[in-house]
Amino acid sequence: MRKEQQIKNTLGLCAICNNVHTSNYVEVERDSMVYVCSGCVEKAIDNFIWICLSCGKSFIKPKQLVIHRVKDLELKRAYMLCQDLLIIQGIESCISCHPERIVEYMETLISSVEC
Ligand SMILES: [Zn+2]
Ligand SMILES: [Zn+2]
Repeated sequence: MRKEQQIKNTLGLCAICNNVHTSNYVEVERDSMVYVCSGCVEKAIDNFIWICLSCGKSFIKPKQLVIHRVKDLELKRAYMLCQDLLIIQGIESCISCHPERIVEYMETLISSVEC
């Protein structure tokens, strides 16, 4: 899941379910591609998906839940506009890698969502 790892026109293991080999991939961050199978792309219709670029763990959160939890009205509106888009984003570290950093990170993540 590192930047130097080039994705060619080959099959790779889906980064989200780690279960299916696929030739579909998405850009989760600038220059950072991961394979995502069509089943998981479908999951992204109803869920926001974050993939940890350090350990490869993925986090799937229902969009409705995320939107419901956002208190900031501007942000809520931004998320609602994102509702129909596929959001699969890379994060630098997750709760397994850096438990102490994740809260801070999720806050910046939420405030930096753009559509
Ligand atoms: Zn998958
Ligand atoms: Zn991680």
